[in-house]
Amino acid sequence: MSTNPPGQARRTPAPPKGTVGIGQPEPVASPVFRENAKKQLQNTLMRRNMKHATTTIRNKRLLRVAEVPNWDEVRAQGAGLKDRVARHLDYYLAMAEENLIKAGAQVHWAKDAQEANQIIVSLVKAKGVDEVVKIKSMATQEIEMNEALEAAGIAAWETDLAELIVQLGHDRPSHILVPAIHRNREEVREIFNREMGRYGTPPPKNMPNDPPVLAGAARVHLREKFLRAKVGISGGNMIIADTGTMVIVESEGNGRMCLTLPETLISVVGVEKIIPSFDDLEVFMKLLPRSSTAERMNPYTSMWSGVTPGDGPQEVHVVLVDNGRTKVLDDPEGRFVLRCIRCSACMNKCPVFERVGGHAYGSVYPGPIGIALTPLMRGIDSPIDKSLPFACTLCCACDDVCPVKIPLSDIIVHNRNRVADKKRHDIHPHLETTVMIPADWAFKKAKHFELVQKAVSIASGIAFKNKDYLGPMPWPASPWTRARDIPAPPVESFRSWWAKNRGGAK
Ligand code: SF4
Ligand code: SF4
Repeated sequence: MSTNPPGQARRTPAPPKGTVGIGQPEPVASPVFRENAKKQLQNTLMRRNMKHATTTIRNKRLLRVAEVPNWDEVRAQGAGLKDRVARHLDYYLAMAEENLIKAGAQVHWAKDAQEANQIIVSLVKAKGVDEVVKIKSMATQEIEMNEALEAAGIAAWETDLAELIVQLGHDRPSHILVPAIHRNREEVREIFNREMGRYGTPPPKNMPNDPPVLAGAARVHLREKFLRAKVGISGGNMIIADTGTMVIVESEGNGRMCLTLPETLISVVGVEKIIPSFDDLEVFMKLLPRSSTAERMNPYTSMWSGVTPGDGPQEVHVVLVDNGRTKVLDDPEGRFVLRCIRCSACMNKCPVFERVGGHAYGSVYPGPIGIALTPLMRGIDSPIDKSLPFACTLCCACDDVCPVKIPLSDIIVHNRNRVADKKRHDIHPHLETTVMIPADWAFKKAKHFELVQKAVSIASGIAFKNKDYLGPMPWPASPWTRARDIPAPPVESFRSWWAKNRGGAK
């Protein structure tokens, strides 16, 4: 099976033994956010890179948003449109399918990641190729498509610059928009020098760490892959239901190459990406570029409706993926998260994300959107998923920047409640439950509360005499008291003071 241009030898060397394509990235260090975060906080280079990148993009976004006088109104329109689609998802999906087919596309439905991967692998295999070029897409990362293709002997070449850096570095993306945000230009140069030649055209000798030179090396490296590929794979920012049009916005032009050069195009899209009509596109084209790359308009917006004879791919497939989205729709408090247009503004604003980076979350979606969405989509059974809702200080900064007004902090609290409820039903009572039993008794009646206060006053008089603050205490209070000064309880309660000084009235 050859995918080379006629008469040319394939220039890409064989992948290292035991792998197809670039191979699997390093696994996430720990199954729990807190442990990952502790480790990531030691990485001062990553923290410096993250701070620089998120501060720059955050400040630029503020300028771009300030240029739109009715920004809040547009946000409300975007939220309203997404809610309308969620309320009538069955109707709009059927409309989108009908119009996609009318335009010449083939539509496939996948209820989960496994089904989506089976469809994609069989479509690629039917073309008789062993490699594809692809555009950065959160949906394909979510279903682990690259891994599924690799297991089937098909290499998936990332063509977005940041994704290429991540793939060549055998790394994981740490941001949904800037996957290599944790890397600086010197690290990129080192990765390109070490890895590029193993998978295709090598970088120029003595390459400086100058961004345009690094981008130029990636361009040359990718060009042979674009020209050779018979199959392209994309995600999709939107599907316009009333015209059956797919929309992708991007900055580098690699998407345009993937969408137009290969003979076959497979687009993998979450079912919530529908917008009702072509007119509604205007709203999202105002919101998305300003919130994501902080630009008035992104450099490349590609739209296509099915197949045009003699122009672009002659076989177009759209794989519509559920993978937990309808479960989220079923949750009256969590469903607003389906408004998400994956702009990443919430991440760039989140103080926790800025400090720990994306890898700590152990999820394709890190930051505020990740801790709101992932426990709803995947459930709260695994240690990482139940730890995610607590990766948050509830500062609410993410709510303020979200272009579709998702109440992220409310959904995070909702996820915390779900985790707490689940613990409550555990066979062995959790520490919180154990503490709540005496607390319940104390707060139920004024008399009980008075008794507890008296007991605390007597104990304080003995234990904390002449002390203003409690020092570190033994477990289970140790994690709390290690880092906080807690005032010593007063030796006399307000109630007893009131009784003494205000004639005994209680
Ligand atoms: S509320 Fe939580 S998730 Fe949102 S920005 Fe603040 S710390 Fe981050
Ligand atoms: S939750 Fe809002 S701010 Fe965050 S990625 Fe989604 S649309 Fe953007």
